[in-house]
Amino acid sequence: MSTLRFHALRETLNRKPVIIEEKVRRSELFGQHVFNENTMRQYLTKEAYNSVMDAIDNGSKINRSIANQISASMKDWAISKGATHYTHWFQPLTGATAEKHDAFFETIGGGNAIEKFGGGELVQQEPDASSFPNGGIRNTFEARGYTAWDPTSPAFILGTTLCIPTVFVAYTGEALDYKTPLLRALQSVDQAATAVAKYFDKNVTKVNATLGWEQEYFLIDSALAKSRPDIIQAGRTLLGHAAAKGQQLDDHYFGSIPSRVISYMRDLETQCMLLGIPVKTRHNEVAPNQFELAPIFEEANLAVDHNSLLMDVMERVADRHNFKVLLHEKPFAGVNGSGKHNNWSLSTNTGVNLLSPGKTPMRNLEFLTFFINTIKAVNDNEELLRAAIASASNDHRLGANEAPPAIVSVFIGSQLTEVLDALENVTKGKISPKEMTDLKLNVVGKIPEILLDNTDRNRTSPFAFTGNKFEFRAVGSTANCANPMTVLNAIMAKQLQEFKIEVDQLIKEKGMKKDDAIFNVLREYIKASKNIRFEGNGYGEEWEKEAKKRGLSNNKTTPEALKAKVSKKAIDLYESLGIMNKVEVEARHEIEIEEYTMRIQIESRTLGDIARNHIVPTAIKYQNILIENVRGLKEIYGNNFQKVAKEQLIIIESISSHIEKINKGVSDMIEARKKANKLNSIEKKAFSYCDKVKPYFEDIRYHCDKLELLVDDELWPLTKYRELLFTR
Ligand code: ADP
Ligand code: MG
Repeated sequence: MSTLRFHALRETLNRKPVIIEEKVRRSELFGQHVFNENTMRQYLTKEAYNSVMDAIDNGSKINRSIANQISASMKDWAISKGATHYTHWFQPLTGATAEKHDAFFETIGGGNAIEKFGGGELVQQEPDASSFPNGGIRNTFEARGYTAWDPTSPAFILGTTLCIPTVFVAYTGEALDYKTPLLRALQSVDQAATAVAKYFDKNVTKVNATLGWEQEYFLIDSALAKSRPDIIQAGRTLLGHAAAKGQQLDDHYFGSIPSRVISYMRDLETQCMLLGIPVKTRHNEVAPNQFELAPIFEEANLAVDHNSLLMDVMERVADRHNFKVLLHEKPFAGVNGSGKHNNWSLSTNTGVNLLSPGKTPMRNLEFLTFFINTIKAVNDNEELLRAAIASASNDHRLGANEAPPAIVSVFIGSQLTEVLDALENVTKGKISPKEMTDLKLNVVGKIPEILLDNTDRNRTSPFAFTGNKFEFRAVGSTANCANPMTVLNAIMAKQLQEFKIEVDQLIKEKGMKKDDAIFNVLREYIKASKNIRFEGNGYGEEWEKEAKKRGLSNNKTTPEALKAKVSKKAIDLYESLGIMNKVEVEARHEIEIEEYTMRIQIESRTLGDIARNHIVPTAIKYQNILIENVRGLKEIYGNNFQKVAKEQLIIIESISSHIEKINKGVSDMIEARKKANKLNSIEKKAFSYCDKVKPYFEDIRYHCDKLELLVDDELWPLTKYRELLFTR
């Protein structure tokens, strides 16, 4: 009998929900572990407070003596909350968050010690940069990179450690993390959007990108998770026959949340409250044991930090509840995968959501301006946007048999389609007073504040307008949102810059009125970006054909998709906006393509191991039992044994045939790996892993899964799908 599997099942069946008592209202808990505005007002001198606020609002520098004041207050506050250590908290390109803890504690001679945290330690720290991927920017032996405080994201306490959000850069200046280019992209979009928003309201001085992510995840019992080498090594199941009942009845989505899970969620939400992550929504998702958590949206940099922090906290809290969180995009074949919808918009310091229609024609013209510019930006950069969400794990969703497709398109709904159709016919050049009145009254003025399509959304679209924001749905559940947010805000910044230049030109050179000029440019944008608009079924085969005709990209695999990242167009875009230079862009490409290879390599090795060392021996064991049985029957029935042993003989042969195919598959796969490993170019290697190694997975899995159906359940070593998905 397979001991690990049955031991794990026994453990799981004995679990009780962890009791979570919520004695304090959540609004009271909110932000208690955050050095936020409120806390700063209490702890900082007026001078220091103003200096931090100025850094947040205007990006101004904080001088050293003020930094000393801030760090001292931060330390007092953190110690009052039980903290003993501090760390710079950053997001290296490994995808996880990184920390290096130092104690506040310091000796001062004479056998005495104090708690100390100086401005220098707040502002800059030197982690061992050699252990983080850098895409060849620095030689590892130099290992010179440093982290620097990002005051726009407040410090927080996790456990007993004060965490200070930072950027991570090489001494030579190149960004080594996700945050640095994101901050630069957000600054670009702020400048470009503010300039355009000023056409409509002179009081606008700042535009923030906003992000509300929706985190999907699976929860399975930790003992069951540990019983599966593939989940431990690769974060997903590499084999396993589908359970008889999966998600076909849709009963999970509408069902009540299981009690152990509810305890987990309440615990997690409490932690989120303390950390100032404004989580609001929780519910079951489509697949069994799949759930979702979503916050109230925030300024994009903070929202990105909060999502990274959340993924970390989710795992920590899961430990207490004997759960394992699976953030992988596709942990189980045959049931839904997990995504992380990125709801995105732009919001002014005057409180206007630029992607929300309003009450007046003027406000709606502003809305249309930003709305149409977004469509144009996506149209012109669809391939780069696709590259921003490429990863080995997300490939299972995009372009596989699951939505959204690898083709980027924009859904806007029928009401706005009508509006754009009407605007397409606006007269070229100066617009007569009659036409302008008509436009304002009957087209722009008719856009309702709340759009009907908001409820009637197209769930198959990777980039959908949902009433007052765009929802980028193709982002994977494991992703750091910084990557897609950097691209989206960068292409929007570039687009808005171009728009401003074009409008100003019409005003100056053609003597047009501002509104005339705006309508003229928008009309051309609508025409130019028709290809990206698609209102139909994004999952259908017809769309693939149609998209091809339209010239849209359909990059189904990561190595293919990532090419767009280092195209001349992409590098020009980043360089012109000052977001990344060529070296930084190429380094990131290198890191991502290498990560892809390593992921497939790990999966391939794990699969080979499980197939050969777990499945095949088990199948042989069972086959031996059958052989023993047949031998016994022969003893009893003599030459007539074949009749009674008929079924056993069939199974014996079928086991042999599956074993043969598994063995051949694994041997060939290893050969393919060896060939791939010999390639010198990292890109060629990735393609080789993608096109030559990965294709073996399916065939090996097929035969293993067939054996699962043949072999005695008592002997089967791997915890089965029905157990993983339905025990809790
Ligand atoms: P659902 O998609 O479940 O119907 P909503 O449409 O209300 O829910 O919102 C989904 C997500 O979109 C939430 O995380 C929410 O905070 C976020 N969101 C709402 N408005 C904006 C906005 N202006 N900018 C960014 N995100 C937003
Ligand atoms: Mg959504």
